Amino acid sequence: MSPSPVILEIALPVPLLTNFDFLVNDVALDITMLEHRIGSRVLVPFGQQKKVGILLSVKTETDIELNKLKAIIDFLDEKPFISKEILKLALWSAKYYHHAIGEVMQQCLPVLVRQALSETELRDCIVEQENFWQLTELGNKTQSEDLKRAKRQSELLDFFKTHQQGFFQSQLKSQEISGWQAAIKKLEQAGLIHKQLKTINQNELVDTFKQISEKNVNKELLLKLNDEQQLALEQVLEKKNGFHPFLLYGITGSGKTEVYLQLIQSVLVNQKQALILVPEINLTPQLFERFEKRFNVPIATLHSSLNHKQRFKNWLLAAEGKAKIVIGTRSAIFTPMPDLGLIILDEEHDSSYKQQEGFRYHARDIAMIRANFLSIPVLLGTATPSFETLENVRQKKYQCLRLTKRAGNAIAPKISLMDVRNKQIEHGISYQLKARIEEELSQNNQIIIFQNRRGFAPITYCHQCGWMAQCPSCDAKLTTHQKGNYMLCHHCETRFPIPVNCLSCNSDQIEKLGAGTERIEQTLLNLFPDVEIFRIDRDTTRGKDQFHQLMMKVKDGHRQILVGTQMLSKGHHFPNVTLVVILDIDQGLFSTDFRAMEKMAQLIVQVAGRAGRGEKPGQVVLQTHQPEHPFYEHILSHGYEYFSQQAMEDRQQMQLPPYGYLALLRCDAKSESINLEFLNQCLAIAQQLLSNQTQESIQIIGPVPAPMQRKAGRFRSQVLVQCDHRQLLQQFIGQWLEHFPKNHRVKWSIDIDPQDMA
Ligand code: ADP
Ligand code: ZN
Ligand code: ZN
Repeated sequence: MSPSPVILEIALPVPLLTNFDFLVNDVALDITMLEHRIGSRVLVPFGQQKKVGILLSVKTETDIELNKLKAIIDFLDEKPFISKEILKLALWSAKYYHHAIGEVMQQCLPVLVRQALSETELRDCIVEQENFWQLTELGNKTQSEDLKRAKRQSELLDFFKTHQQGFFQSQLKSQEISGWQAAIKKLEQAGLIHKQLKTINQNELVDTFKQISEKNVNKELLLKLNDEQQLALEQVLEKKNGFHPFLLYGITGSGKTEVYLQLIQSVLVNQKQALILVPEINLTPQLFERFEKRFNVPIATLHSSLNHKQRFKNWLLAAEGKAKIVIGTRSAIFTPMPDLGLIILDEEHDSSYKQQEGFRYHARDIAMIRANFLSIPVLLGTATPSFETLENVRQKKYQCLRLTKRAGNAIAPKISLMDVRNKQIEHGISYQLKARIEEELSQNNQIIIFQNRRGFAPITYCHQCGWMAQCPSCDAKLTTHQKGNYMLCHHCETRFPIPVNCLSCNSDQIEKLGAGTERIEQTLLNLFPDVEIFRIDRDTTRGKDQFHQLMMKVKDGHRQILVGTQMLSKGHHFPNVTLVVILDIDQGLFSTDFRAMEKMAQLIVQVAGRAGRGEKPGQVVLQTHQPEHPFYEHILSHGYEYFSQQAMEDRQQMQLPPYGYLALLRCDAKSESINLEFLNQCLAIAQQLLSNQTQESIQIIGPVPAPMQRKAGRFRSQVLVQCDHRQLLQQFIGQWLEHFPKNHRVKWSIDIDPQDMA
């Protein structure tokens, strides 16, 4: 009898719910050695191609005939790139979201690492050179007293004498010797030290940070916490050695970030790493700055505007335990961190934590699972908690910590309605509003005007015959972008020229209806020709650093107006903003999305948080045609908490999240009938599976057309599954997917806990 074969179970990046079995060609590798490689990248043959997979397990049995199995081509890693911890997290996620494990694994790796490059090749492509200084012979002979009159130079020379090995630029930076740049130039000119370009040895660099202590904290910036902040800090620290979810529910400007910083300090001093997730890092440079100023430790950022090399480099720093703090967006939740001791999710209500395509995970939920697996605390911070989180607090799954007062001396802004029914409105700006803006400008203040629609006008039509500019591939109108001189479909991103004559009747009476940020900007320019006006939306911040540059211009500015989309609503401090206006807030009142009101309320409160951050009090004005709508009464007179209680009662009555659980099956094809054929087959299978269900706990709604039925030339349909038990829904979806019919004409996906129902 031949010895039983060793089989490798491998996850490959293909959209299938199965794993793949391969043989090992190297007979020298026994099972134990192979088991040490679990989590490594493996190059395998796949049809005519080669693919990079992840080794999941080593086994001796397979359902496939042995002579049909192929051998792997090679192992790519020296040590597994996916740690045991991340592997466990990825497996859990793949199961919960019913997503192909190979694609989930991809999500855990930086793009560069997904390619068929060996570990050595990967490390080679991030090697960097840096300035390196070392004492010369002359320098060694020179006494630092000789430089007495130049105190900095003398200190620096002493420093080099006690550290003969020399210094990289980044190491010197971290020593916080003030004025070292100028002093080092002088020493160089005097021939006392010698400069060269040298390859950075990460280990040398990081040795400086092996042991973190209070010394790595910039004490000057430490703020004395108020009673609420202190209590919050103590509560978390008390439970730092186990899985404990917290909600830090603090109004904007109440000093949540200061609580994060002091918590992280304690985590670092305990020689652990901290992971901070933020909705969008480009929009929160001030947050990053505060971290950098406070802590003299390596901090790695992970977000989409890094290039592949930078991202891999930062990821590696985290994975090797060298970066002590990781700040990243959604996908950073999968960053391997061997000493992880705390996870913080800032602005936990933000919808960007949910991935809306492919592997549709929610970073907040994954954070909970990860913290649970690791037995560490996890802190969600926000001024406007999601209903899911509030329900978890109510059920005592999360502990709620409140910050009810603004820190420092800023006063909370007043929110009021501006009833514009039957009032003259010029391209979005009412007469009353114009007067309010004038008033603020006369006092040298800044104003933010918020319009959640970019471009010039959302509708372009013919006054003669009523023709409208429509996207030929989507059920959507084209938005005119006057500045770039084109019309754009905001759904499939196709551009068209702006017509001079009607495409239907050839008349030249082309009109534009409605206003986006571009038109508001133009209106304001006409109304206030001598005032600086800045537009901040995706169109004006596309270039690298453009956003940052705009922010620098307005940070301490006076007599300026900022017009922008919701980009402007996030984490910025504008001390001179005294008036914030939301122009067409009403649209959310009539949305078919059951979360629309929740999101609107969050937006109003977040936007309000931008005003009155400095010495001057702030005001928020909502321009509305529906001043009597109860929504406004709830949020304006009683605040977010009262609003959320009311709105959550409605959710409960309708068995909607967080009181019911949802899964959305989406599919698209060339025609609606193809979708219907597929979905009806799926429904028939569901009915069979559910036929022995005793109570009607699982409900299936559909098939129905998606809210936007046609997008990029494809017809879209969907089926909603609703259930009041998470576990039951999970089980059902698992069984259901196993029986799905094969149909190459449709593309389908399942979205667990969907946030966006479109
Ligand atoms: P949040 O994150 O809750 O919006 P921040 O942490 O940004 O609030 O704090 C708002 C402002 O209050 C910041 O300028 C911060 O420096 C200041 N601040 C925070 N905590 C304190 C404190 N304990 N004493 C004085 N100022 C504070
Ligand atoms: Zn016409
Ligand atoms: Zn389109």
